[in-house]
Amino acid sequence: MLCPLCFLAQRQAKFGLGEMPFATVRAAIENALKEGLREVIPSTMGEPLLYSHFAELLELCEASGVPLNLTTNGSFPGKWGTEEGMRRLLHACSDIKVSCMGFDDAVFSEMMPGGDFSQWKSNVERLASLARTERAAAGDEPVSTISLQVTLHKKFAPDAGAVHSILHWAQSIGIDRIKWNPAVFLSTAPDELVRQYALEPDKILALNSLLVQSAKSSKVRCEGSLFFEPLLAAQEPCREDSIPCPFDDELWVLPDGSVQYCPNPERRYGNPASSMAQCSRCLMRNAPRHKF
Ligand code: SF4
Repeated sequence: MLCPLCFLAQRQAKFGLGEMPFATVRAAIENALKEGLREVIPSTMGEPLLYSHFAELLELCEASGVPLNLTTNGSFPGKWGTEEGMRRLLHACSDIKVSCMGFDDAVFSEMMPGGDFSQWKSNVERLASLARTERAAAGDEPVSTISLQVTLHKKFAPDAGAVHSILHWAQSIGIDRIKWNPAVFLSTAPDELVRQYALEPDKILALNSLLVQSAKSSKVRCEGSLFFEPLLAAQEPCREDSIPCPFDDELWVLPDGSVQYCPNPERRYGNPASSMAQCSRCLMRNAPRHKF
């Protein structure tokens, strides 16, 4: 079952482009290594830890000296949920971002069908605890940072008390940062989906003010697209040449081995002819240069 906000669900497609053969992964990494590859982002329109060649991908990255930048739904399936599996991930990744689309049982299960909030929370706590232990023991060897990737939507728009609770929990278990991102909707998304989940612009701005304030008293670094929403509200669309694409040092390899340079979801999954898919009006141009 698809998560309702997945771009595949928004374009009303049942399946993505299929699983990438490992030979394609290997060829892409080997080619990119010649160009100074810095990290690999396994982005799958699905759970990367369910990729049937994930262990091989990890081995290849380790052998190549290139870290993974992993975003996971926090289910840590199979061996990746064991202590050994989590330790392995912590040493192979530069950052592990765990998605969070709700912070109670009801919203969590609606937004991540098949997921279990208590299990998710316990997995994040175990991972963060292991990260602390590994850092203490690793000396100079790098250990992954742990981030939460929060998607805000109409059913998950925390008030001050809820923001405080999330930040308090994250700080107490040693989360390094939280990315706060309002849900993104394609121009092709069904009206009903947008009505059900999209935050009104004034609500996004109110969340921005709340988070800017709350972040000041938290040790957890707060980032994400929520923080540049006021820029979007205030600015005319960028001129084509005024701000460089924040993703111009990335390339995206599709399962058939073809390459894309633009991660704008409207261009990739929505309507490439729509204004949201054009560089001159790209919302992603307001993203800071660093990755988040
Ligand atoms: S549409 Fe946006 S993300 Fe894509 S190349 Fe243009 S500026 Fe970059």
